[in-house]
Amino acid sequence: MYVKVARPVVGIEEEEAVIQVLRSGWYTSGPSVKEFEQAYAEYIGTKHAAGVSSGTSAIYLTLQALGVGEGDEVIVPALTFFSTASAVLRVGATPIFADIDQDTYCIDYNSICEKMTDETKAVIPVHFYGGMCDMDRIMRLAKQESLLVVEDAAQAHGAEYRGKKAGSFGKAGTWSFFATKNMTTSEESGMVTSDNEDLINMVKVLRSHGMVDRNTHQYLGFNDRMGEISAAIGLVQLGKLDHLNSIRKQNSEYLRERLSDIPWLRIPPIGKHVKHVYFWCPVEVDEQKLGMNTLTLRKTLGESGVETRHRYVEPLYKQPILEQFKHLHDYSKDCLPVAERVAGKMLGLPNHPLLTQEKLDYIIETIKNITSKN
Ligand SMILES: *Cc1c(COP(=O)(O)O)cnc(C)c1O
Repeated sequence: MYVKVARPVVGIEEEEAVIQVLRSGWYTSGPSVKEFEQAYAEYIGTKHAAGVSSGTSAIYLTLQALGVGEGDEVIVPALTFFSTASAVLRVGATPIFADIDQDTYCIDYNSICEKMTDETKAVIPVHFYGGMCDMDRIMRLAKQESLLVVEDAAQAHGAEYRGKKAGSFGKAGTWSFFATKNMTTSEESGMVTSDNEDLINMVKVLRSHGMVDRNTHQYLGFNDRMGEISAAIGLVQLGKLDHLNSIRKQNSEYLRERLSDIPWLRIPPIGKHVKHVYFWCPVEVDEQKLGMNTLTLRKTLGESGVETRHRYVEPLYKQPILEQFKHLHDYSKDCLPVAERVAGKMLGLPNHPLLTQEKLDYIIETIKNITSKN
């Protein structure tokens, strides 16, 4: 048996949608993109949305549209996908890393407060692994301090905090439809959601060469558009999202329950007031109790046919590229205790909607066998 950690769930409806676009002859941003933007905004509960070329471009276009740039500091979590930070660098601003919460692994509110300076312009809470950040406190702080909040919701399609969806709290929410996310457009693409029409219009100008009309390049923009095929697939996937999320939840809860008594596995609790959508089913390995490092464990599981994710293995401030930005901030001096503890010890278990009961039980059995050997 081999259990893959992630599989996109696409079927005949997506195939038909693609064929329709191919036959229509209209491939670049057109009617499907508009329709997907409207449907996505409606689903998230914002007034507007803009389809873009990736989750990464969604972040940097939003920052650029908000006027975040040189001299501004933007607080981001130390453990996330790197583009949360690289998007900040891309607009010329300085990413400042905050620690993560020791329970939920989302950005830690107290650490955000500690990292605030007069230069802090924005904060990017990342709704990690399908959970959500402490939005009550983050939004209150943002209001007090006039901070811009851009939610990186690339891992949280459909997640909720007190019944309100990820991507509808801040100035904007940014989304990725990369193949392994909770929903995909199969091709690379992303989205920006916001209640602010001016912001969304600016993102739409920036995504298309900074053009305000056919012949006038008013801003420095490049080509970050979403294509019609992406949008057509996205529309179908959006219709399936709640159902797919509910299976992810079932699968994840099944694994969490049955693995909860393993002494060397820490199963992170779900944050307060959060409806989790389990982009990952994360577990943290206590290497000392296990007597094995996470890498070896992952290899052993893989050899037994259980694929796992192993990310993010270092706090982001250790990425080599940041050496080139030491004139902005000396990242080599950063050291955040929870990020240091968790980095490299997180495994994501397979929890995608195509898992069978047999496979779920096989994952549990395989992990339990490891326990008994040590
Ligand atoms: C996937 C992801 C991104 C980047 O999205 P792409 O579409 O791959 O550019 C950004 N932030 C987080 C937290 C992600 O998980």
